[in-house]
This record gives sequence, structure tokens and C-alpha cells, in this order.
Amino acid sequence: MKRPEDLLRSTPAGLYCPPGDFYIDPIRPVQKALITHGHSDHARSGHESVMATRQTLDIMALRYGSGFAAVTQAATLGETVVNNGVSVSFHPAGHVLGSAQIAVEKDGMRIVASGDYKRSPDPTCLGFEPVACDVFITEATFALPVFRHPDSRDEIAKLLRSVEQFPERSHLVGAYALGKAQRVIRMLRDAGHDRTIYIHGALAKLCDYYQSQGIDLGDLSPATVDTDNAGDFAGAIVIGPPSAFLDRWARRFPDPVSCFASGWMRIRQRARQGGVELPIILSDHCDWDELTRTITELDPDQVWVTHGREEALVRWCELNGYKARPLHLIGYEDEGD
Ligand SMILES: [Zn+2]
Repeated sequence: MKRPEDLLRSTPAGLYCPPGDFYIDPIRPVQKALITHGHSDHARSGHESVMATRQTLDIMALRYGSGFAAVTQAATLGETVVNNGVSVSFHPAGHVLGSAQIAVEKDGMRIVASGDYKRSPDPTCLGFEPVACDVFITEATFALPVFRHPDSRDEIAKLLRSVEQFPERSHLVGAYALGKAQRVIRMLRDAGHDRTIYIHGALAKLCDYYQSQGIDLGDLSPATVDTDNAGDFAGAIVIGPPSAFLDRWARRFPDPVSCFASGWMRIRQRARQGGVELPIILSDHCDWDELTRTITELDPDQVWVTHGREEALVRWCELNGYKARPLHLIGYEDEGD
């Protein structure tokens, strides 16, 4: 391997490894796909063969049906598998349950495709594991110095204070179905909230799956409102996917406090425009400091930057002595932010 581009390069279908003849998180159906995690922009349906962690395969089966690929291969974290002479290994990314970085290596050249990742603690998944590499491929969702995520426990405490302050209102929390919803619930439990938490039907399967994987979410109940039980939701926390907030479902709760758990809630204007009364800044992606700290820690020869604010991070790399370039991969609009 003389050049890293011989080992991994961007193509219209996604990141492709010519010697291994496989793609990582392809956006079009391909023969062989290696998938970093279950978010729908990374784990698409229609591939012939899929290699991913057991949990990511399970999540894909929940979302697309058990026959989502003709062949599936479960990757064990930390174990190397050789594909057409290319060594492949999966390592925790700290993003959502089952999420992994994928390391590919041939002739002494190692590239790590980190998918989506974060460094802040998350009680619902394994923490990011730094893997030494020649080229580190990083996301750039929040790659601007203005993005500094606050301590997640303080954000959950803010929600609980509001519940205490407004016992007659329900708190409707928008959170993405894979990862964010379960993280909010688990963190509420860690903060001592042991009452029933109500969940929208779109979250049920994934919450059940998290529980089956040993992540205790406590007492959950369906958030179905009809005229005779609307009062039951006074003082309750109700979690639903962001899309549910636009439909009639959300308007049935008594005088709801509209909350949204997302890294974007850092931008006040964005919260206001979305009609969010209580923004909860909780992200499953790195903020600026986590991104730059990770690059400094890994100290790779090159950094390839993808999906997000590529320019700012490429510029930071150059100023700090790292060769860097944007990958210009398209199609990654993360459903979990
Ligand atoms: Zn993701």
C-alpha cells in the first residue's frame, strides 16, 4: 500500500476498499457492506451481505425485517477478520448501542473509519476506544468551536427540575428512536427518577431491545392518550421521536412542556424556531473539543473529514500539523444527533 487511497477511497456509493472489495456504510445497495451502526443513514437496507456487530445486525433486523440481507456476519469487537487480504476489525465508537469504528489494514497501512462517535459518557453503550492508525476518518457534525456540549447530567437535572416545578403539566421530550431516547431514559433513572416513563409506540421495539441487552430502562408504558386518561400524564415524562411532535399525538397531553434532546439545542434560535420550551443539550456526537482532542490523541499521519462542518476541522488539522482533507461523502444526515 503506497497510498491510503489505494486502501480506502470515496465513490458515489460510499467509502470503498478496492483490495477487499467492500464498502463501509454505503449509501447505495452493494454486494458487501461493513456497517458502523444502526442509524438509518449509515445502515441502509438492500445490501447482499452485511458485516456489523451483533447488536447492529439485530437493530437492522428490527428496522428492516430479519431478511434484510442475504448474508450477515457478526463482528466481534477487537477481533481481526481477513477479507481478500485486508484485515478488518471493529472497535467501540461510543455513539449508540452496537456502534463501532472499523479499522482496515493492509501491508502496514491502517485506516480507521470511525463512523459517528463521541467521547462523553453514555450509560447505554461502550465508550470510544482509541485505535492507533495512519489515517483517521472523522465525522464533523459539530465541528465548529461554538459547539461545546455541556455536562449531560446537568441537562437531565434541568428536565427533572422543570418536572418538579410544574407538577400539573406533562413533559414531552423529543428524542431520536435509536440511542437518544434510551440514553435520556437511562440517565433519568441514574438521576433517581423512578416513576413510570411513557413512550411513543415508535420507540417500543428499540427500548425492548436495549432492555434485552442488559440496559435497564425501568418501568416504561405506552403513551397512548384518550379522553379518559389524559389526566394520568400530569407530571409525567413522555418520550417520543421528533416527528411525532408535529402530529395530533403530541397535542393530547395536558398543557405539555415541549422539550427536545439534541446537540443542536445549543443553538437557541433553533430551539425557538422549533417551538421548544425546554432545550436539552444532549448529543451523541463529539463537540469541537472532543474532535480535536481525539485527533491529538491518535496523532495520525492524515485526517479525512466527512459529513458535517468539514472545512473548519480540516483547517484546524492543517494549523496543527496534520495533513487533512474533506472526503465529500454525501447522504449522511444523521438521524441521531
Ligand atoms: Zn449515527
